[in-house]
Amino acid sequence: MKNNFESKFIQNLIYSNYGLEVKAEQIEGELDDNFKLKHDGKSYFFKIYPTNTDLELVTFQSNLLRHLKAFDKTPKNILTNKKKPFASFIDNKNAVRYFRMNEWIDGRLWSSVNPIDSELREKLGYESARLVEKLKEKKHIYYRNNFSWDLANFLWVENHYKKVHLKKGHCLRIKSLTDNFKNKKKEYKKLRKSLIHNDLNDNNIILSKCLKKPEIIGIIDFGDCVKSQLINELAITCTYGILNSLNPLASACDIIRGFNSKIPLFESEIDFLYDLILMRISISIIKSALNKKINPTNSYLQVSKDDMLVLFEKWNSINKSLAIHFFRNACNFSPNHNAKEFKKLISQNKSSIEILFKKKDIKKLKNLDLSVSSKWLSNDLINDVQSFEIKINKYPDITFFGGYLETRAVYNSSDYERLTDAGFENRTTHLGIDFWVKDKTPVHSIENGYIKIITNDRTSKGYGGLIIIEHSIAKIIYYSLYGHLSDQKKSILKVGSFVKKGEKIGEIGSISENGGWSPHLHFQLMLTLLDYQNDFPGVCMEYEKDIWSSICPDPVHILNIKKTYTSKFDKTKLKNSRKKYLPNNLKLSYNEPIYIVRGFNQFLYSSNGKKYLDTVNNIAHVGHQNLKVTQAANEQIGILNTNTRYLHDEIITLHKNLTSKFPKKLSKLYLVNSGSEANELAMRMSALFRNSENYIVMQGGYHGNTNKTIEISNYKYNSKGGSGKAKNIFEIPMPDEFRGKHRGKGAGKKYFEEFEKLILKAKKSNKKISAMIFEPIISCGGQIEMPENFIKMCKKVLDKHNILTIADEVQTGFGRVGEKYWGFELYNIIPDIVTMGKPMGNGHPIGAVVCTDEISKKFDNGLEFFSSFGGNPVSCRVANEVIYEIERKKLQRNALKTGLFLKDGLKNLSIKYPILGNVRGKGLFIGVELVDRGLNPETEKAHYLVNRMKELGVLMSNDGLDKNVIKIKPPLIFSIEDSKKLLMLLEKVLKENFMKSI
Ligand code: PMP
Repeated sequence: MKNNFESKFIQNLIYSNYGLEVKAEQIEGELDDNFKLKHDGKSYFFKIYPTNTDLELVTFQSNLLRHLKAFDKTPKNILTNKKKPFASFIDNKNAVRYFRMNEWIDGRLWSSVNPIDSELREKLGYESARLVEKLKEKKHIYYRNNFSWDLANFLWVENHYKKVHLKKGHCLRIKSLTDNFKNKKKEYKKLRKSLIHNDLNDNNIILSKCLKKPEIIGIIDFGDCVKSQLINELAITCTYGILNSLNPLASACDIIRGFNSKIPLFESEIDFLYDLILMRISISIIKSALNKKINPTNSYLQVSKDDMLVLFEKWNSINKSLAIHFFRNACNFSPNHNAKEFKKLISQNKSSIEILFKKKDIKKLKNLDLSVSSKWLSNDLINDVQSFEIKINKYPDITFFGGYLETRAVYNSSDYERLTDAGFENRTTHLGIDFWVKDKTPVHSIENGYIKIITNDRTSKGYGGLIIIEHSIAKIIYYSLYGHLSDQKKSILKVGSFVKKGEKIGEIGSISENGGWSPHLHFQLMLTLLDYQNDFPGVCMEYEKDIWSSICPDPVHILNIKKTYTSKFDKTKLKNSRKKYLPNNLKLSYNEPIYIVRGFNQFLYSSNGKKYLDTVNNIAHVGHQNLKVTQAANEQIGILNTNTRYLHDEIITLHKNLTSKFPKKLSKLYLVNSGSEANELAMRMSALFRNSENYIVMQGGYHGNTNKTIEISNYKYNSKGGSGKAKNIFEIPMPDEFRGKHRGKGAGKKYFEEFEKLILKAKKSNKKISAMIFEPIISCGGQIEMPENFIKMCKKVLDKHNILTIADEVQTGFGRVGEKYWGFELYNIIPDIVTMGKPMGNGHPIGAVVCTDEISKKFDNGLEFFSSFGGNPVSCRVANEVIYEIERKKLQRNALKTGLFLKDGLKNLSIKYPILGNVRGKGLFIGVELVDRGLNPETEKAHYLVNRMKELGVLMSNDGLDKNVIKIKPPLIFSIEDSKKLLMLLEKVLKENFMKSI
């Protein structure tokens, strides 16, 4: 039993034994009375052992600490005044109480660290093994009999688990664990033994205070140290190291990999690991329940109970055989123990493709690349089965095949997606070979065997008709899988039916029967079925392909066909080439850049198949590689692409389409190639119109990368390397009501006064101003909305002084702001000139200027206006299609609806996480500003957040004058579902230590 020692008592005890005047604070412990002591800026750990503690145990533990002195991660023992490692006193119940003092390791407990990544888990495994290596050397040890935390004594639970109110399912599982342990006891006893720490739980591992990349700096509490099977140490380390992980199997493998790199495991040990982890979880749960009965008030005894119950379920749901494959892989063994032998045997006993199909059904075999970057597979073929088929059928003399270990973007139904510690991830990597043959083509068994599974998989993008046949070669059992067959209800074959090599087993299914695919056979081999019934995976996570390919060998060997190939990517080489050939100020996003090889709707795919939800690329306004837009571009580029010097319909259509979106007054259209060029042109026009090259600009504004547009872009000329404000530029402060020069209510009025002052100043100094250029919501400057009435009031003054107003809609145009089609419409004004770019071509380079007839006339001063590419038929066709897509898909309305939902969600998050100081914007043009309590910018955290979100599969960007604003401006097809995922993952990151640090 623990005592409640008064701190005065502890202080006196310390003073008399260690000569230190300390402050004592009791800390948690299971049985011992533990204290944190402070003296002279230094901290110590002080332990009073429970009554009746064996002197031998205390001696052993003190010796142990001395033994581990050279191990840099354990606390050093402090000797008493009498140079003893421990001492004792008699307590008020006349019992001897031993005590000991250690150095305090100043850091953070593993249990409080968030996030824990795979690198850290690997280090944990390594440190755990390193400690065992040191412990192994210890000669004199303390033997504990029947120690309940020793996994070797697991069977004690048999008498207890039924008494502690566990779920029936848990009881059954614990029973099967004990049964299994009894059956395997002999093998278990033979495993190597060592002194082990035996309790590397999440409160006994100390990490450095670095919040981004913490290191393991301490391992404490040797109270449960015992000599036992060495593998137990790893099982225990895994148990606590995977607590709260969404993919505990992968997390356990990280720890195992680290451990194995220091102490290579034996296969016999690996076989026990899965059960041992579940055994430790069970002990923890049962112990918590028992302790609650005995000591209901000690919360420390219940610390991990709930998490352990969750882990029990999660771990139990992992197939044990699959787990062992994963563990073996982590320890550099072939994941499947039969994989090598099978490959050898099968190469001597081949079947053939002519057995699988009748000779007449197979034409010349040609590999088909359907990988994520496949040039053959344009996006219209991903979901449109008919088009896919038409393309395949264009080659009647070829049988396309391929796909083994190919990473593909086609598996986009929810069945392929799961939430892991790395966000939402898709299974992408194909485990069989596809043969693109017509429906009704007969399919035959490749070898003699017994029907193991015959079924219809009804999931979307599943197998449809499915047969699995069991075969054997030498002593190895293996399976052949035939997917996407016709409806198997009609089959005469039954589970257990014997089929001969070459016997017809079924036919290729049509789209309606085969899971919704263009007709083909998915042929796969497996060396185990694990526990799968009708749903053995045909596709795995890319990063698990080493394991799955060992379970599912390459069918080319048995079919005696040429190896399939798939695109290979070398990111490192590409990174180096980029460094070598491209200029340094051409920047890449993210700490670790991504290698994107495909865009599809609101997603981008990297070379390893990872799918990123894109909240950054507003250029892909109607979705990446939008089918209609790409079709239009393809079509037009195959017909004609010239310039505006010839008559062409498309430019007139674009004129009509665009000007119909503007007030009548804005009737003339000029077409160029970029936003910068559009703004250049707008400047040229206004300069000519007003005979002046003086401009009013806003702080934080960005209008382009050309000489002139940089001159009007405060965001550029005022930043590092910029040449400062030119003489012809009149600057008004960024009208930021949150953190600008004037803040809060009434700020708009003050900004307007600044504007008026500027106009007067120009007037006084006889400076004629030609135009004011503004972004309706300042984008690069940090998604700054204009204060109420500010623009309207400015416009009145501008008109009065004959100064033109140029609205730069490069970011805000085309329905993005939701309420209106153009940003300027939010402020009830009509500008004199409007410039456009980015979204207008959905990635195709096109920009435009619209202006009044009057300005256009003045611009026509005899000098021809010509842009080689501006207004070419392809660009016009593309821009027209973008406008139609916005209409067809009602994207402006979606921007409004989804934008409101997302903004609401962000506002709710900002209540919980005050670092989100301000959420602003309109439609799908949102900014979230990260600040501390004093409204100082949290630039580093914005950077961290953006990079973490990228790791979780969401692309975001940070910008603003202090780079502390998260800009959200996704393709307008961004959905409520996408927003929910975004909010969920944002919250995950907001909970992380670095984001919460002050
Ligand atoms: N204006 C604004 C508001 C912009 O954001 C940009 C580009 N970021 C431009 C003009 C320049 O467009 P481009 O890069 O197409 O030249």
